Amino acid sequence: MIYQFNYLLAGGGCAGLAMAAQLHLRFGAQAKILIVDRDDKNSNDRTWAFWSDQELPLGLDKIVRKEWSAVRFRSPSWERTTTIAPYQYRLINGIDYYRFMRAKLEAAPNVYFLKGEISHLGEDDKSPWARVNNQLYRAEWIFDSRVGPETRPAESSPHYFLWQHFYGWRVKMDKPHFATQVATLMDFSHSHDGHPTFFYCLPFSPTEALVEFTAFSNSLMDQEAYRKRMVEYLHQRFGPAKYIVTEEEQGRIPMTDVDLANRNYRRIRSIGTAGNAVKPTTGYAFLRIQQQAESMAKQLFETGQVDQPPKLGGRFRWYDHLLLYLLQFEPQRSERIFSSLFEQQPFDRILRFLDEDTAWWEEVMIFKDLPIGWFLEAAWKHQVRTSPIWSVGPTLTKGTQYG
Ligand SMILES: Cc1cc2nc3c(=O)[nH]c(=O)nc-3n(C[C@H](O)[C@H](O)[C@H](O)COP(=O)(O)OP(=O)(O)OC[C@H]3O[C@@H](n4cnc5c(N)ncnc54)[C@H](O)[C@@H]3O)c2cc1C
Repeated sequence: MIYQFNYLLAGGGCAGLAMAAQLHLRFGAQAKILIVDRDDKNSNDRTWAFWSDQELPLGLDKIVRKEWSAVRFRSPSWERTTTIAPYQYRLINGIDYYRFMRAKLEAAPNVYFLKGEISHLGEDDKSPWARVNNQLYRAEWIFDSRVGPETRPAESSPHYFLWQHFYGWRVKMDKPHFATQVATLMDFSHSHDGHPTFFYCLPFSPTEALVEFTAFSNSLMDQEAYRKRMVEYLHQRFGPAKYIVTEEEQGRIPMTDVDLANRNYRRIRSIGTAGNAVKPTTGYAFLRIQQQAESMAKQLFETGQVDQPPKLGGRFRWYDHLLLYLLQFEPQRSERIFSSLFEQQPFDRILRFLDEDTAWWEEVMIFKDLPIGWFLEAAWKHQVRTSPIWSVGPTLTKGTQYG
């Protein structure tokens, strides 16, 4: 038997659920939608934090668990805490998102969930199809958020690739230690590795916070090394405080300029991480995924067609290239680069810059505070790497799955 749908979501995580909800919003009862995931999405497998100054799409404001009006940057020798108006730094728990989106979609009679492993995805004369648990499912369009075998570029490729990997705890302290209105985005005061590492702290109350160790590097660390860094940091920052760990979070996000989208199909589109929605130099993706889903569903509704996510390009990609170059090849310079960025500039300007929403003159203001010689050197070396004489194309290696 062959099952036929209008839209099939290959992966029902952040992007798959957002895309399904946007399609349902646009097409209503006309559209038969199938969401396939190998996982039940019943655990709090991640926490999404992001800044925003607008109402969130799909009613997601209802599940924002905490908002911070000020953020902090801490270098080894100084720290700066400032409000980020008009933005708020916001937090959504993974489990709340999965439940909220599923409840919304399950209430619609034409939306179906299927638990299973997608073993193959393809396209023939009739339509795109997915093979799940040895059964064929066809749809007019498939939206694919699986990121398959690791697309790490080969050494000889001009592309950059780093992992943003992190390990964190929700801790409950025996005494008040946290300023509840301030989210610490980067604390470099205990950074002593050969590559960029920092801590991140989101307080929920004077005694409770999510504290995470984050590193940007080529390889991951072993579990014990992450735990050790957490214990050391909590001791150094809060003294001999007593705390219990109520939850653990671990993950990794690709920081790369490799085009992850699969462009071989007429009616299969890559979305989410697979659709290049992750900002390569920050790892932030949640809001970009929501915006991507909204605009793809809109285009499909208005034109009957939907483009692949645009190829990485433009001046913000150029800035990403330079920073990726520095993070990958001059990691010892990263703390100074981030310190220069956060020391003087208005934070709302930095956040707009990271959102790729600044005007050129604001970017000049930002670059004047950065160690410009390093960026000029990176620009030259990037040019040499990508010039046709040296470049051999993005040879990809196969390995583990993305987290
Ligand atoms: C731990 C963690 C924390 C993060 N925190 C933040 C943050 O604070 N802010 C931010 O902006 N971004 C954050 N990100 C980055 C990004 O927002 C998330 O990775 C986001 O979940 C990406 O959405 P996605 O739909 O592309 O991938 P996912 O949410 O991972 O969804 C992909 C889905 O596909 C399913 N799947 C994969 N292969 C198959 C298969 N063969 N068959 C069936 N199902 C399959 C998976 O089970 C999964 O549910 C974080 C990432 C991680 C890993």
